[in-house]
Amino acid sequence: MVRPGGFMGNTPILKIYKKLLLEYGRQGWWPLASRGGYHPGDYRKPETREECFEIILGAVLTQNTTWKNASSALESLLLSVDTPEKLLRLEVSEISKLIRKSGYHNQKAVKIKEVTSFLLKNDYLGDDLEKTPLRNELLAIWGIGPETADSILLYAYSFPSFVVDAYTKRIFSRIGLIDFSSEYGEIQKTFQENLSRKDEIYNEYHALIVRHAKTLCSKKKPECGKCFLKTECRYPAGDHSDQPPEKNTPAIRSDSSGGNTKNV
Ligand code: SF4
Repeated sequence: MVRPGGFMGNTPILKIYKKLLLEYGRQGWWPLASRGGYHPGDYRKPETREECFEIILGAVLTQNTTWKNASSALESLLLSVDTPEKLLRLEVSEISKLIRKSGYHNQKAVKIKEVTSFLLKNDYLGDDLEKTPLRNELLAIWGIGPETADSILLYAYSFPSFVVDAYTKRIFSRIGLIDFSSEYGEIQKTFQENLSRKDEIYNEYHALIVRHAKTLCSKKKPECGKCFLKTECRYPAGDHSDQPPEKNTPAIRSDSSGGNTKNV
């Protein structure tokens, strides 16, 4: 549930976005090999099916692990299979070996095959990338929860669907704009209702949230003294009343699909 008074108009959420952007600058998500990794200020939609596919694979591989592990697994996978068609020709056990470094590799191998099969069958990975999957279609795929579905929509298809993760929940409940117990959909709605519906903004905001969580607003010891958000945040004053301990996962993203987490 949104805290009363937390989102009167656009001011608080936009103010925080502007402060994050001013402090950290553009983050250049999603990292793509063809663009030399992160590409700040380049908001072009993925232009080839290879770029789109790379992001989709990364979105699954990064569940419940760090981006370092996910990208290492992604690199191994792409060395062996550079097209969705080739991936579908591999057995799950072969995919699993290639992505071992990402952790949960047996489950992720199945998820990768499922999502690839669905997208190919429904022409969502055509050469022209004209079609965008529906969110509900993605959510119906085994192992694809809201966080992964929204990551795929936003970063692979440039469709404005705000990505919520454990970092979003942590930072904004500490600031006092959401309750820690809020559901994914409530938090997403809050952001989407208070921002222009533009994929560039959603892209940047989510990346900035991750950056802030990794830089200052850590799970155990947030560095509030150094934080440029301390004047609007209730946490430094000791108001931690609605902060149950976060689960001890390495997560940035904790997707409710039963094992989806992103850590970039
Ligand atoms: S003041 Fe502290 S708790 Fe609040 S956003 Fe900054 S680091 Fe996080």
